[in-house]
Amino acid sequence: TSSPPVVELDNVEIVYDRHFLAVQGVSMEANEGDIVALLGPNGAGKSTILKMISGIGLTERGEVTRGTVRYEGNDVTNADTNRMVSEGVTHILEGRRSFEDLTVEENLRCGLYRGGRRLSYSEEDYELAFEYFPQLEDILDLKAGYTSGGEQQMLVIARALIHRPKLLLLDEPSLGLAPKLVQDIFETLVEINRKEDITMIVADQNAKRTLEIADYGYVLENGQVELQDPAETLMNREEIKEFYLGTS
Ligand code: ATP
Repeated sequence: TSSPPVVELDNVEIVYDRHFLAVQGVSMEANEGDIVALLGPNGAGKSTILKMISGIGLTERGEVTRGTVRYEGNDVTNADTNRMVSEGVTHILEGRRSFEDLTVEENLRCGLYRGGRRLSYSEEDYELAFEYFPQLEDILDLKAGYTSGGEQQMLVIARALIHRPKLLLLDEPSLGLAPKLVQDIFETLVEINRKEDITMIVADQNAKRTLEIADYGYVLENGQVELQDPAETLMNREEIKEFYLGTS
């Protein structure tokens, strides 16, 4: 028998402030080892879906009011972030938040917290950061606030990697980065996905780059799934070319 999807949304509705319908009946899944692209314009609901999966940021104002979210086959609808972190879900929020006053090394070492306790990692896990992002080794003593946008993106991905998540959620990793850098970082994501066996969901406005690395893609509009297909198929669909790739 095949294992259940790592994460599975079944007809999920998400409401903010008890009345604002942000996500309306979305069904999607990410299978083990896949990179799933979540595409769509500003406000389509991409971040909301990621926040709902990781439990970050939804608890106060937003809630799943209909449908089911499953993680490795278990119902985690409206589960809190402590639980999801301990289950192996790591969420890299939009805006690559690092601790700006701490050095790169301190950022890498301070890691993740669960219920107020630091999740442990070994030196070997820590070294993993430099296997994928050797550049970071040269700037370990630099305050994160003084590093470039690209370095900060590498830093937050590296920090996530150290904790060996099963599922990594990335919100707008390409935002504000030069094309060459986006390419480098996305190539590294693929390498991490393959070698470390980490399933990923990447929400990004850069449809082309994201589909290039993805196995499967969903296009959201107004809180609903408009299109879905294997990434290769999606890339060649006329609607996608016209509206998202600008190559029609
Ligand atoms: P972006 O790339 O701009 O983040 P997105 O596709 O990720 O776009 P969301 O941020 O998920 O979209 O927003 C979906 C809808 O939910 C939008 O209409 C947004 O205004 C609304 N929304 C998002 N966060 C909140 C919140 N905390 N409270 C109320 N409404 C919210």
